[in-house]
Amino acid sequence: PGEYTVRGKPRSGVTVLAGPTAVGKGTVSTFIRDNYPQVWLSVSATTRQARPGEVEGVHYFFKSPEEFDGLISHGDLLEWAVVHGQNRYGTLRSTVEAAVAAGRSVLLEIDLQGARQVKAAMPEADFVFLSPPSWHELVRRLVGRGTESAQEQHRRLETAKLELAAQPEFDYTIVNDDVSRAAAELVTLMGLTPNHVDQP
Ligand code: 5GP
Repeated sequence: PGEYTVRGKPRSGVTVLAGPTAVGKGTVSTFIRDNYPQVWLSVSATTRQARPGEVEGVHYFFKSPEEFDGLISHGDLLEWAVVHGQNRYGTLRSTVEAAVAAGRSVLLEIDLQGARQVKAAMPEADFVFLSPPSWHELVRRLVGRGTESAQEQHRRLETAKLELAAQPEFDYTIVNDDVSRAAAELVTLMGLTPNHVDQP
């Protein structure tokens, strides 16, 4: 580790992965959680309800709105944001700081608003933009996921247009053409050795 520098910045131990809605950030971070134990993937706090199969402390720390208010007022969050106009999500400052202090390679998978806050608080972190192979592919993924109403899809596509314009704010861009390839590129960028994992 330590060989790879992004735009000449020294390695900070913290990498932020952000990108437009439906680009597959969640898929890439799940792949990393399952295949790269050498990455310390930050577990966020959120006010949204757990989905089936989601585990407290593994996927998120699920909080009531009142508990989330408490985290904010105590300064416990490195960043937080309302995502998709609904729920709040935030990064727990103490867990990230402890992982950095322990020399771990920390990955934050957060939205763009959160990435900007981390950039203000921790400019030495590495900022990685996950990009769709094309606009057409982004639309296909968002519609194909089939989890949102047509109105919600339209809203998210409008958001995605704005989000794509943020790419120049980032140190590095990874094209999410293939999950295992994109994940391998990300861990290489983090100064770790990628394993070669075949997609199921
Ligand atoms: P989901 O509800 O599908 O798990 O996540 C929705 C969005 O929340 C994703 O875009 C994800 O990047 C973002 N997100 C997850 N955790 C955090 C966080 O701690 N902070 C911020 N700002 N965004 C987050």
